[in-house]
This record gives sequence, structure tokens and C-alpha cells, in this order.
Amino acid sequence: MFTPLEIEKLSEEFESRAPQEIIAWAVDAFWPQVALSSSFQTQSVPLLHMVSQAERDILVYFLDTGYHFWETLIFREKLASEWKLNVLDLYRDTRWDVFARGQVRTLPLEDPNLCCFIHKVQPMQRGIKDMLAWISGIRRDQTAVRAKAKILELQEDGLLKINPLLNWTKADVKRYMEEHNLPSHPLLEKGYRSVGCSPCTVAIGLNDDERAGRWQGRGKTECGLHTEMFKHKDFSQLKSEFHVDVSSMERRKEDR
Ligand code: SF4
Repeated sequence: MFTPLEIEKLSEEFESRAPQEIIAWAVDAFWPQVALSSSFQTQSVPLLHMVSQAERDILVYFLDTGYHFWETLIFREKLASEWKLNVLDLYRDTRWDVFARGQVRTLPLEDPNLCCFIHKVQPMQRGIKDMLAWISGIRRDQTAVRAKAKILELQEDGLLKINPLLNWTKADVKRYMEEHNLPSHPLLEKGYRSVGCSPCTVAIGLNDDERAGRWQGRGKTECGLHTEMFKHKDFSQLKSEFHVDVSSMERRKEDR
């Protein structure tokens, strides 16, 4: 549809465009094969609000890992209902059920990369596989990995990743929320400035980095949705990233 060169030029042009213009372009260019992903935390609210104002009923994926705070699930319901969002929950592949249930309390702590792969990366890979474009809410000021991202990123499999808020800062998020009088995630006032799964999120101080409370002390800053991990569809290529032995799962996959 677009050549890599065209995507590169558009991406540069979009650096000075408003997020709403980039979303409108994405919907016009890829409808209906365009979807958004959201974790329904405070940082997600501006993008969800923009999508709710769009002319089309854009599909919003929510990764229901089973480890979310109750407050996140309530907030997801509230926004989806009040803003009439077209939310679809994505779950882990059922072939992981026996394995994951056996380690339900330990997996996020012993092997967060594997846990994120099972509960976030793989469900998103499956959810997005028939889509041409994926809109995400990442910003360059959040992590070192995100600082290197582009507004448009064409993946090898042809999927176009679109990051309309990439050059926004946390001050832009605050300004937009105030201008539109938008609600915050209920845990924000308790010091949870970035909210992920319960076993991997802690409250932080006002002067800490926004994502300092995610996987704190575990040398991990990303779940894998926005890293090389997402690009690997072949499970065997990822084994070296995991600590827990997953050889029984590989055998089950071979048996299919
Ligand atoms: S954030 Fe934590 S609990 Fe959630 S999927 Fe990743 S490791 Fe598992």
C-alpha cells in the first residue's frame, strides 16, 4: 500500500502534526484493518479520548493478563461504557493454561519475560495478525527504547505501527487531560503513575521517572510489545530470553 520510503517520509512529516491528524490519516488509509492497543491507565486516557471522538468505531485491544488491579478493570469498564469504545479483551493462548496455572504466583517474579510473552506479546500478535495498522500510545519520554521509536514503523511482516503521541511529553498528557476534564486511573492518587499488572507495579514518588514503578529492581522496562520480542512469531527464537524451562510447551506445539 505504501512503500518503505513513503512511510519514512510520512513519519518525518507527522513529527509536526497533531495526534488527532495522524489518527484520522490512519483510519482513512487502513479502515477497517486498523486497531488500537491500550492498557487503560492514566497515560492512555488522551489517546482513548481521541479515538472516542473519531468518526469510526475503532477496535481497541485490551490485554487481559489476569494480573490486573481490580481498579484497572473497573476503569476499563467505565471508559468503554461512557465513551462507547469498541473494546476487545485479548487472553493468553489456552495451550498455556496448565503451565501458567501451575506457576500463577511465581511466574511474574521468576520469569517476567516469559510471563509477558504469554500474557501480552503472543495474544497481541494473534489479535493484530489480520490488521494492516496498529495504533499505540507510547511516548519518547517514557523509556530509552521508546526514545528511539518513529511515528510510523513498518514491520517486516507488513504491519504498520503508528505512534501518534510519540513526541508528546507527560506535560502534554496533563494539559490535554485538564483541557478536556478527563478522568484519571483511580490508583494515580495513591502514587501509581504508570499502572501495569499488580505483581509488577509499585507506587512511586513525585520526582521519580514515570515508569520507575514498573518491574522495579528486575532490570526490565518493557513488556515486549514495543521491542524486538514482538517481531518474533517463532517461539523457538525466543527461548534464550526465558529462565523457566518451556521445553514441554515446545513439544505440545510440535504435536499439533
Ligand atoms: S507485567 Fe508482570 S504479571 Fe503482567 S504479564 Fe508481564 S510479568 Fe506477567
